[in-house]
This record gives sequence, C-alpha cells and structure tokens, in this order.
Amino acid sequence: MLLVLLTVLLTALSMSSWLALREEEASLLKEINQRGAYIGRFVAKSMAFSVVGYDYHTIQLLLDELTSSDEINYARVTNAKGNIMGESGSATRDTDIRPASDEDLIMFTNDIHIDNETVGILYLGFSTKHIVSRLETQKFTLLKREALIILLIALGEFLALSYIIVRPVDKIIDFLRRNVNDEGLLVSKIPMVSNDEFGQLAQQFNTLSNQLNEANKKLHSKIESADRQLLETNQQLKRLNEEFRVLSITDPLTGLFNRRHFDELMKTEIELSNRHGNSDSILLIDIDFFKAINDTYGHCTGDVVLKNMTTILQKNLRHTDAVCRIGGEEFAVLCKRADKKCAMKIAEKLRIAIETTPMIPEIDGGLMITVSIGVASASYHTKSITPKQLYKDVDTAMYHSKNNGRNRVTHITDLHQESTESIENKNSKGQNHEN
Ligand code: GH3
Ligand code: MG
Ligand code: MG
Repeated sequence: MLLVLLTVLLTALSMSSWLALREEEASLLKEINQRGAYIGRFVAKSMAFSVVGYDYHTIQLLLDELTSSDEINYARVTNAKGNIMGESGSATRDTDIRPASDEDLIMFTNDIHIDNETVGILYLGFSTKHIVSRLETQKFTLLKREALIILLIALGEFLALSYIIVRPVDKIIDFLRRNVNDEGLLVSKIPMVSNDEFGQLAQQFNTLSNQLNEANKKLHSKIESADRQLLETNQQLKRLNEEFRVLSITDPLTGLFNRRHFDELMKTEIELSNRHGNSDSILLIDIDFFKAINDTYGHCTGDVVLKNMTTILQKNLRHTDAVCRIGGEEFAVLCKRADKKCAMKIAEKLRIAIETTPMIPEIDGGLMITVSIGVASASYHTKSITPKQLYKDVDTAMYHSKNNGRNRVTHITDLHQESTESIENKNSKGQNHEN
C-alpha cells in the first residue's frame, strides 16, 4: 500500500514539474514575443528615414548595434523592392532569414513605413539561448526540489514502516517469547495490536494457536489412554505370566509343587548345602496299598484321600519345607536346614499324623491309611552329593520301609548300618560254625 502511495506521489511530482516547466517556457516565449514586437516596431520607426534616404552606413551601424546585444542575433533591412540595405549577425543567404548556427532564432518581421507607405522591411532574429538557459536553470531547481521531496518521502516512509511494521512485529515476537510453554504451545492469546493487517495476523495466529492447543489436548488424552491401556495390558501379561509360572510348577489335584519343580528345588538346595555344609534332608512318602482304596471306593475317593493327605502334610510341616507331589500317591518333602535327627523327627511326626487321622470319616471307620517313608540327608556324606544320588538314596530308604512291613520310617544311613551289621553277623556266625 505504501509503495502504491509512493508511486502516486512521485508521478504527481513529476507531472507538476513538467507542467511548471511548460508554463515557464510559455511565459518566456510570450515575453520574447512582446519584447520582439516592441523592439521591432521601435527600430522600424527609427530606421524609416535612413531607408528612404539610402543611408546604408547608418542602417548598418544600427543593425550592428542591435546584434551586439545577447538578445538579438540577427538583423536585416531590405527596401520595398526586397534588396538588402544592411545585414548583421549570422545568417545564411540560402535560407535568407535562417541563422547559420544551430542555434534557434525567433524571427520578427516589421514593415518600415513613412506616411503609411511601406518603404522597407526589418528582420530581427531573437536568440532563444537565454530561454533555454533559464529553462535549464528552472529544470535543475525542480530536479533538486524533487530529489529533496523524494528523500523526505523515503525518510517518512522508513519511519512509518518502522512504526507500522517493525513495532507490531516486535510486540508479537516479544509476546510469543513470554507466553509459550515448555511444550511450545501458546498459553494466552496475542493481544490485538491494531485493526490492520497485523491485527488480522494476530487474530489468525490466535485461531491457529487455539486449534493447535485443542489438537494437542486430544493427542495427549489419546496418548494417556493408550498409556493406560498399555499399562493394563502389561499388568495383565505379568499376572498371566505369573499364573503360567505357578501352573507350570503346580500339581493340579493337590495344589502342591510338581515333580519338575521338586527337581529344580533339589538342584538349587543341594548345591547350596554342598557349598556351605548345611544339612538338608529329603522325605519320600508313599501311601500304603493305595491301589486298594481306588479299587474298593473308586478313583474319586482316592483323589479325596490324596487331597486330605496333602492337608495333613502341610499342617505338620514348617513353612520353609517344600512339599511336592512327585507321582500318583507319592510325596516328597525338602526339609531345609534339617539333619538326620531333625528329619527323622519330622518324618515320624508325619507318619503318626497320617496313621491317626481319618481320611474320610464317613467311610469304613474313617478310611484310615498308613504311609511308608524314606529319609536321606545331604550333610551325612563327607563328599559332595548330587541331587540324583540323594533321590536314589531316599527311594531306597522308602522301599526299605515298604519291604519291612510298611507304615514306618527308614533313614538311608540306618539301612547302610543294618546291612553292615547283617554282614558282620553273618561273618561272626560263620566263624562260630568253623569253631
Ligand atoms: P504299595 O503299598 O506297594 O505302595 O501299594 P500301592 O497300591 O499303594 O501302589 P501301587 O503302585 O500298586 O498303586 C498305586 C496306585 O495309585 C495306582 C493308581 O491307580 C493310583 N493312582 C495314581 N495316581 C492317582 C490319582 O491321581 N488319583 C487316584 N485316585 N489314584 C491314583
Ligand atoms: Mg507308589
Ligand atoms: Mg503306594
């Protein structure tokens, strides 16, 4: 807009300068015409008698005098017949009344009269040189004026631009700097600096900022809900994972640890026991004649017996002891920090508890059962023992209980002692016979 204004102003200025020059030129021409007519009339009058009296000398003197001025460049007098009586200044014969130089002349022609009779003609050529020089001066003055005005307009425009554009832009930038939060969002509206383009710009900016804030809020709420869902899914996954882990180590019927987990526990605990010299013991518990219960009362009753048996085991064991169902009617207990004496005490306690507790009170006097138990302890071996070896030992001990009347507890070391004693007995008997 300002550029358009500047262009219009410059055009108007140029037009006015051109018109002023034209006016000056016209006024100068008018002045010359008046002066030329006046001087022509005057000189023609004063020469009349010299022309009639053929006074060539005076005529020439007068013409020379006239052309000696800056104003008149050419002068000539002819008689009534057209013969030249005197001539001064530069002019060509060919053109007759045109000057020889390039310089333009304004020609004035005056009849020379005596008593209303034309006796000759006076030609005067007025130089346009001073008109041109005056016009040049005028032009230069106008140019200077125009340059000054342009300079003033440019200065004014610069100041106006600074005020109209730079100041509002600075205001907006400053406001943005102070009102943008950490997320790069505008926290309050840009004040309407003016009603012009900058005002509209601020309004547009505010609208855009509102839309951006709204979009950002929606995005945040979506991200939050996605985060929540992810968290829930993660927790569900953790729960499921834990459930799977528990299921993978649990016996479904009794809820005790299964064989797989028992093997893992054995491995870890026996390793620790070997390293630190702790006493860990294993109990292997097998229900006596369990098949008969199934056969007599059915499989379901057998299951109930297994569950009730589990309850008795849990009731009579420490929390640190791990109870597992390792087969159909076989249970194992890993007694941590328990040497032979302690393990045997636990085993005996369990045996008695099972023997004396009715499994199903409603059936046959309570459906009493007994168990055969084998015990083996890790600390009784001077060298490190493997879990496999320990299990083998406890199995042997349990079968020893089975084979020796059931409903009893055998520690593997007692079994070794027994066999040593029986060998010794055999040996002593042999010796007696020999004697
Ligand atoms: P022993 O005194 O020699 O140990 O004789 P037993 O009958 O207890 O031993 P045997 O190995 O002959 O029989 C075990 C039975 O346990 C056979 C099987 O039907 C039963 N059994 C195994 N698993 C389950 C189970 O999950 N539920 C029920 N009800 N019975 C089972
Ligand atoms: Mg068995
Ligand atoms: Mg059995």
